[in-house]
Amino acid sequence: MSAPLFIKIKEEDNVAIAVNDLAAGTEILPGVITKEDIPQAHKIALKDIAADEDIIRYGVSLGTAINPITAGSWINEHMLHLGQSPSLTDMPYGLNIKTIESLPKPTKTTWLGYRNKTGPAGTRNLLGIVTTVQCAAGVINRAVERIKAELLPKYPNVEDVVAVNHPYGCGVAINAPEAKVPIRAITNLVRHPNFGDEIMVVGLGCEKLTYDRILPPEDITDENCLTLQDWKGQAAMMQAILDMADKKLQRLNLRTREELPLSQLLIGMQCGGSDAFSGITANPSAGYAADMLVRGGATVMFSEVTEVRDGVHLIAQRCRDAATRDKLSAEMRWYDDYLAAGGVGRDANPTPGNKQGGLSNIVEKAMGSIAKSGTAPIEEVLSPAEKPTKQGLIYAATPASDIVCGPCQLASGIGLQVFMTGRGTPYGLAAAPVIKVCSRNEMKEHWFDLIDVNAGPIATGEATIADIGTRLFELILDVASGIKQPYSDLYGYHNDLCIFNPAPIT
Ligand code: CA
Repeated sequence: MSAPLFIKIKEEDNVAIAVNDLAAGTEILPGVITKEDIPQAHKIALKDIAADEDIIRYGVSLGTAINPITAGSWINEHMLHLGQSPSLTDMPYGLNIKTIESLPKPTKTTWLGYRNKTGPAGTRNLLGIVTTVQCAAGVINRAVERIKAELLPKYPNVEDVVAVNHPYGCGVAINAPEAKVPIRAITNLVRHPNFGDEIMVVGLGCEKLTYDRILPPEDITDENCLTLQDWKGQAAMMQAILDMADKKLQRLNLRTREELPLSQLLIGMQCGGSDAFSGITANPSAGYAADMLVRGGATVMFSEVTEVRDGVHLIAQRCRDAATRDKLSAEMRWYDDYLAAGGVGRDANPTPGNKQGGLSNIVEKAMGSIAKSGTAPIEEVLSPAEKPTKQGLIYAATPASDIVCGPCQLASGIGLQVFMTGRGTPYGLAAAPVIKVCSRNEMKEHWFDLIDVNAGPIATGEATIADIGTRLFELILDVASGIKQPYSDLYGYHNDLCIFNPAPIT
């Protein structure tokens, strides 16, 4: 197959995406000649577009033309007028419900995980040490280094030790209504499926986030909670942490992987550093893998409110019932208000890198972003950092920021995150593996030892969405099963956990 010059998605589209840099004077269609050099992944007008006429990609209007545009012109972000977001009132639901049997069939139906008493199984066997305040983080980082060096070698079934540090805990308006979001996140992180129900919480002693805000009374014991201010001198403090960790490691070492159904697997999806290819290669491949996972009984969540907002009517159509649609509306409305309170609109996204990658505005970014959700019905909508109560495809409302979405999805219990990128990021999480999927062949060539899956061959006609989606599905199961390691874990490139805190800092 020879590479196409451009990719047009829907018949009604009046723009297409350049597969490679296109020189001025290239005839891309009979009579349509490029008027100027068009950068890779950027939009070309396929016909003359009048002022105020819709610019259509994915079959939807990205906005209207500010001035007349002649066929063959490059369309950049300065040439579109952004319209209104879709209304959140009375969005139709249940119009586009696919049967689970119509989704692509998974090529494997089991994986190897660490079973938990409740909830999804672990993809890793980790000792997670959760701090209640940033003041403890310096001590915990050093303690984790020592635990890894001095204790971990004695416990071959435990894969790693993870410090769950974050900026929350003190100097915050802990009784503010929205404080429930960071508190819920930390509460749920303590019981992440990869930590095997071994609770290890370290506090300073005078912080606002007291143990009773994140643990039930029966779990607040000397076995589970350690307060730095209780210890005389740093050597005793450090020894106490090591002693506690040793006991937890002994129990975690009893865990072993077992063959489990896909219903025990919870996978998160997000994207970052997107470009105009993300929506035609990487995200649809992830969507295909998501469909296979859901068909096999797994739970898959996608997130990123500001990147769904402009396609929300399409998501609502896939909600099974009115209650799910109503929660979707409520989460979107909450975020509209949150942005308005901060004095910004939805045009605060995309980023300069997104725009260089050909994404003109948030409508175009949203249409590409929601492709990662595949085609399954939406079973449940979650507030940030909530745990799902249903299986199948879940919409978990979180900020789109990579480093905030990650901890929110971890708190929701994901055992693995699939991360789609166009521009490239070394992003990773210590508590769960992250598989990175890139949108272009050039990205894979450039970061050959950072990107796990290349979806670029879809753009060049060398592979189909089903090919890459199936390969991704199989890699998800291999990584979840501990058979393969993504690059971010190989190098230990793990981001800090930025807990979402919409409440005031004092
Ligand atoms: Ca993101």
